[in-house]
Amino acid sequence: KRRAKINTDVLVSSILKKDITALSRAITLVESKNPMHLKKANTIIKACLPHANNSVRIGITGVPGVGKSTFIEAFGKHITSKGKRIAVLAIDPSSSLTKGSILGDKTRMEDLVRDNNAFIRPSASGDSLGGVARKTREAIILCEAAGFDVIIIETVGVGQSETTVHSMVDFFLLLKLAGAGDELQGIKRGIIEMADAIAINKADGDNLKRAKLAKVEFNRALHLYPEKPSKWQPKVIVCSALKNEGIDTIWKFILDFIAMTTKNNHFYTKRNEQNKFWLIQTIEEQLKFDFFNRSKIKKELENQLQLIEANQTTPFAAADYLLGLD
Ligand code: GDP
Repeated sequence: KRRAKINTDVLVSSILKKDITALSRAITLVESKNPMHLKKANTIIKACLPHANNSVRIGITGVPGVGKSTFIEAFGKHITSKGKRIAVLAIDPSSSLTKGSILGDKTRMEDLVRDNNAFIRPSASGDSLGGVARKTREAIILCEAAGFDVIIIETVGVGQSETTVHSMVDFFLLLKLAGAGDELQGIKRGIIEMADAIAINKADGDNLKRAKLAKVEFNRALHLYPEKPSKWQPKVIVCSALKNEGIDTIWKFILDFIAMTTKNNHFYTKRNEQNKFWLIQTIEEQLKFDFFNRSKIKKELENQLQLIEANQTTPFAAADYLLGLD
C-alpha cells in the first residue's frame, strides 16, 4: 500500500509528456483485476484517446526460436536510430493456458531495454486470449498517447493469437526459417493470407542459399492468393536479425505500405473495421463473463452438467433452460 491514491489527471498529463513511468503505471491499471483500478484505467484511456492513433502498428509473429526477440531488437534499434520512438507489446497465448510463457522474459532484448526511445512491456496475463487482447488494445492507445511512433505487437503462432494480433495492427510481418525445401508445409494457410511481408530470418552463413530458395518458393505461393483489399502485394525478403541485414529493407517496405494505404484510404478503413470488430468482440466477452459469473448460473450449470452426464437432458435443452433463468 505504498501509493495511497492514484490521481488520474496527473497520470494522464504525465503520459502526454512522454513519462514512461506514468505509462507503465497506467498499463498496470489496465491489467489489474481490481474494479477500482479498472475504473481509473477507463478514465485514463478516455482522456488519452484524442491523442492516440498516430502510430504505425506492426504485428510480428513466428514460431519460438525463429528469432523474434533478436529481430525486434535489431528493428527497434534501427527505428530509434531514425529518431523515432518504439513500443513493444506482446500477446502470449500460453500465459492463459499454462500460466507459463512461451515468449519468455523480455530481458532478452537487453540493448533495446536500455534505449531511452524504446519501451518494452511483457504480455498481460489473463484468463482468456480475448481478455489479454483487450488489455493490449488499450495499452496501444496509452503508448500512442505517450508519443510512440511505432508499436510492435509480438506473438507466437499458437491457436488464435495470430488472428488476434492481425486484428489490431496495420502491418503484419511473418518471420520464417528456411527449411529443407518444404517451406510451405506446416504453415497455417490463413497466416500466409494475413501476412503483408514474410521475412526469412537467419539468412546468414551456410543458411543463406536455402533462405534465398525459400524466398522464391514463398513468392510463388503468394502469387496464388487473390489481391488483398489493401491492394498491397505482400513482400518476401531474406534477413539476418543477428547480423542486422535486411532490417532496413523491411522498414522501407512498411513505409511504402503506409504511403500506399493512406493514399488509397485502406489504412483508415481498416482501422475503422478493426474498431467495429473490437466493439462486437468486447460485448461478446463481457456477456459471456457476466453470464458465467452469476452465482445462480454457476450452481444451475453444475446441475445441468450432471443431468447431461446421466443422459437425462440434451445440451440444447440445458442451454435453453440456463439462458432462460433470470
Ligand atoms: P524467438 O524465440 O523467436 O524470440 O527467437 P530468439 O530471438 O530468442 O532467437 C533464437 C536463437 O536464434 C538465438 O540463439 C538467436 O541468437 C538466434 N538467431 C536469431 N536471429 C538470428 C539470425 O538472423 N541468424 C542466426 N544465425 N541466428 C539467429
